[in-house]
Amino acid sequence: MIIPMSNIRNLLRTFTWTRTVACLVASCAAAICWPMNGMAQYCPSSADTSNYRWSFEEAEFIYTGTAWSQTDVATGVESWDNVQTSVYLEPYYGAFTDIIIDDDDTVPDTLAVTQRYNYGNGAYGQSPCWNHPSTYCGNLCFGNSNLYYANIHFDPSNMAGSAYGWASIWGVSDPTAESYVVRMVAAHEAGHFMGLDDIESQSCSNPSYAQQYGTIMNVDDQFYCQMFFGASSCDGSSVPREFSDWNLYPNNPCNECNENLNCSN
Ligand SMILES: [Zn+2]
Repeated sequence: MIIPMSNIRNLLRTFTWTRTVACLVASCAAAICWPMNGMAQYCPSSADTSNYRWSFEEAEFIYTGTAWSQTDVATGVESWDNVQTSVYLEPYYGAFTDIIIDDDDTVPDTLAVTQRYNYGNGAYGQSPCWNHPSTYCGNLCFGNSNLYYANIHFDPSNMAGSAYGWASIWGVSDPTAESYVVRMVAAHEAGHFMGLDDIESQSCSNPSYAQQYGTIMNVDDQFYCQMFFGASSCDGSSVPREFSDWNLYPNNPCNECNENLNCSN
């Protein structure tokens, strides 16, 4: 079953210390094709500019868990690089851990949850850069509207359970279904890192429609339509909407802050 969005939103209230996005409850159910009535013929936008927004042209991710293959996790996250050019997502190479992905079997009733932090409210305290300007990029203030980093918590038990349920519907082996689920969940949660919201919009009843207008930010497209294992072209079009009135800066040297100055904006 899919937990109704209203219930998922209730779950969010347990994470009020930060803006948290929960999603993706997909244990197995019969494949359902939604009616096409009233479906708009364009890409749905999942952009939400009220979220904290990322400030840099690249972000590094790391998967510290052991339940899943590094390759599957990376394939899901890096699928964003195939569809948009605003923010380049790349494996951690030692500079910054911007997206920390771990295994956490305590995630309630969902496959994964993304917790996003601004510079003032990180899980380990506020950043020393909080409310200080970039040393070299004068318009950049490391304030509350700027995304500092995000934690993506996978729930391996729930993900495996979901994969085992969907395997027979998808007509693939359990390990293959697990691989699909890992890639889908990694891509979906990375979309939340980008500032995108969950959306509901799609139909599997018309495969060509779903292929053209589907999105990884919609659980129905992923699981019921079984067609997206990564970010779609529609997802790619949501990213520039997210950052259209926002400055993205090169990581280096803009990430350095001047702790002797406070932001004036
Ligand atoms: Zn979600």
